Amino acid sequence: MTLQSRVEKVFKSVANACEQAGRPTDSVSVIAVTKYVDHNMASQLVKAGVRHIGENRVDKFLEKYEALKSENLKWHLIGSLQRRKVKEVINLVDYFHALDSVKLAQEIQKRAQHTIKCFLQVNISGEDTKHGFSIEELDDVLPELENLNNLEIVGLMTMAPFEADEETLVDIFQKTKVLQELLKEKQIKNMPMTELSMGMSGDYPIAIREGATFVRIGTAFFK
Ligand SMILES: *Cc1c(COP(=O)(O)O)cnc(C)c1O
Repeated sequence: MTLQSRVEKVFKSVANACEQAGRPTDSVSVIAVTKYVDHNMASQLVKAGVRHIGENRVDKFLEKYEALKSENLKWHLIGSLQRRKVKEVINLVDYFHALDSVKLAQEIQKRAQHTIKCFLQVNISGEDTKHGFSIEELDDVLPELENLNNLEIVGLMTMAPFEADEETLVDIFQKTKVLQELLKEKQIKNMPMTELSMGMSGDYPIAIREGATFVRIGTAFFK
């Protein structure tokens, strides 16, 4: 299959999942995760219609950004970010998906030259290999974040365990959605909390059914 036809296949399957969920197609943004490929391949994806690029590491983000910054794209940093690297990258990022500590948030506040849209990463499954705030931690964290006026907390991001079965996935995505609604109702000034970043190549149709507004898809574009 050509790259073009794989891109079309992914977009079609996202549209199908939206339709099944009774949601408009444009309620879900597809982020192409380009961490497996170089900037030439990323550029092919853009030619094939991709509008959101996601990278999980700063060096690879900067490589793609340098090559493709003249295109009209949205740039997503989706992986954990070391504090000392914040200044190199944060002002190039449209959405940062992996806010997982107050210290990191404070560093972003300090380095930001404009409002940075961030997702709070939450660890719903409780796996200790996963980054992110536990549900219990959030009560202490929210008051610390609400004064950081350079951050706009647009929603929650979660990653399901790799080997999770469908029932577990549904449970994790539903709990994330419930938590998002709960936080949204708090109407905290810098936390609109309208978005949900969840779903990867193996589970995005389920995530869309459960309310994802951003899906992060890598493998499905390349295999
Ligand atoms: C790699 C990665 C993805 C994409 O995973 P695929 O299974 O290849 O679709 C999504 N989110 C994050 C944070 C990643 O690191």
